[in-house]
Amino acid sequence: MSKTAASLRNCFFCGKHINSGTGVMLAKNDGSIQWTCSNKCKKNLRLLKRDPRKLKWTKKYVKGGLKVTK
Ligand SMILES: [Zn+2]
Repeated sequence: MSKTAASLRNCFFCGKHINSGTGVMLAKNDGSIQWTCSNKCKKNLRLLKRDPRKLKWTKKYVKGGLKVTK
């Protein structure tokens, strides 16, 4: 295992890069694994079930809010 491969991880919620050795791993019931950079992201993802595109502090934020197409 190379060091670079281990550090290529981005937060599932906010999209920010997670340094190796940090981050919170979430194992889902279906066996897939999600990484979040902090407990803040973990909470938003799991407990609050927020959409990262609506939160300004995430990289996934869409400027001006989500456009709903009808
Ligand atoms: Zn995050």
